Amino acid sequence: MTTIKLYNTKTRKKEVFTPLKADDVRMYVCGPTVYDRAHIGNARPVIVFDVLYRLLQQVYGKDYVTYARNFTDVDDKINARAAETGRTIREITDETIGWYLDDMGALGNLEPDHAPRATEYIPEMVAMIELLISKGFAYFEDSPRLHNQPPAKYVVLDESKLPRHALFEVRTYEQYGRLSGRTLDEMIAGARVEVANNKRDPMDFVLWKPSGEGEPGWDGPKSQGIEAGRGRPGWHIECSAMSHKLFGKKFDIHGGGLDLAFPHHENEIAQSCACYGEDSFAQVWMHNEMLQVEGKKMSKSLGNFFSVRDLIDQGYPGEVIRFVYLGTHYRKPMDWTNKKAKEAEATLRKWRALTEGVEPTRAIDAEVLRAISDDLNTSGAISVLHQLARQEDKELLLASAQFLGLLTDEMLDPAWKVPEELETYVEHRGTVEALIAKRKEARLAKDFATSDKIRDVLLAAGVELKDISLTEVEFKITRDFNPAKLESLK
Ligand code: AMP
Ligand code: ZN
Repeated sequence: MTTIKLYNTKTRKKEVFTPLKADDVRMYVCGPTVYDRAHIGNARPVIVFDVLYRLLQQVYGKDYVTYARNFTDVDDKINARAAETGRTIREITDETIGWYLDDMGALGNLEPDHAPRATEYIPEMVAMIELLISKGFAYFEDSPRLHNQPPAKYVVLDESKLPRHALFEVRTYEQYGRLSGRTLDEMIAGARVEVANNKRDPMDFVLWKPSGEGEPGWDGPKSQGIEAGRGRPGWHIECSAMSHKLFGKKFDIHGGGLDLAFPHHENEIAQSCACYGEDSFAQVWMHNEMLQVEGKKMSKSLGNFFSVRDLIDQGYPGEVIRFVYLGTHYRKPMDWTNKKAKEAEATLRKWRALTEGVEPTRAIDAEVLRAISDDLNTSGAISVLHQLARQEDKELLLASAQFLGLLTDEMLDPAWKVPEELETYVEHRGTVEALIAKRKEARLAKDFATSDKIRDVLLAAGVELKDISLTEVEFKITRDFNPAKLESLK
């Protein structure tokens, strides 16, 4: 069997990967908070762990690997988005999850076997918090009135019923800091911790917090006659509770972006090991480095902040985007540049032309497998693909590229087959978009004769429309795009 080596953040070493059970390999990856389109940084862990998922499937067999990636659908940023837009939380999270799956699919990622939503696991989180309290690792804040002051005119008859926070007490968990290999005091010195008077230690973190009116809330944990009351879970407890429900006490790999290593993953470990024992939870911890744009941190104020959908809308086929990501090892910072995208496009065009009509071999190239098995050396694997292309080893090139999620039929963008048509479209994009806008106005004015006419002309010119609502429309440029046929409407 192929030997897989993975870098384990916890031991800071590249180790031979030995699953707990070779016929039940389990991987959990922290997924997105769903209130907006995924930005191109968010796509990095998805692609990295998709490659790992494919590798595990290749080595252990498709039926013996389970991949879970959660959706954080309870979060203050989601509440804020709902308040800003006047829409319900569920509308926002459902829509964002749909976008996320579409956008990640467009980049050639397989869907995980489980995609748990936090809000569907609240009872499991509550049970875990209650267990932590009963074991002495967590506590209810002492004086809830300090933070949830009831108006003075009310007399509180039963203090045990006041809504209150539950917190994890880091000093009770001796191993806190195992992942980063730092002591609690070193962490306090390096972190910007919020000092709050309901905490016994500034590093204690929230397991449960009270919800105000209009905020989402559920019945909270209860213990020894005290009830936390209506509230919502903190972020960290969600991954501990969901991975436990899906995978049990122990599983193989836990992944996410490097920004999650502290405090999120440190806190997940503390909660899960405090509940279920020292050797429980994930055996191997993996983290991808961050993505930058043209050498700079991505930020809205620098104007270099893109969503995956922005790139696709700019005309980058998903396969080109994926290829750029695979060019950098996951433990190195990655730079998105237009130059890299242009080069990726040229390479993929060549490989597509070379392998057209070819049947892939059943096995993939041994060198490609070796590179990926060596801590996901994707850039090494791409060098091997270049070599196969130079040797015109078409069948092996196709099979090995498909293993990495490239050159697959699903990734065949119309732009690959008909480059001239797409270029023509880019030239005439303004006209098409103006006609779509004109049709929207006609629909709003209930002038369906005009709107139908525009639709027919666009279709005759090779632009297919799909109405989503009265004002929203999706469109697709077909291979028969012919701008001359738009003339009659100009
Ligand atoms: P979030 O929705 O912010 O919790 O992020 C979802 C995932 O994207 C997490 O695994 C993050 O670590 C990862 N992530 C966020 N920003 C970047 C970035 N610039 N580069 C790479 N990964 C990122
Ligand atoms: Zn997580």
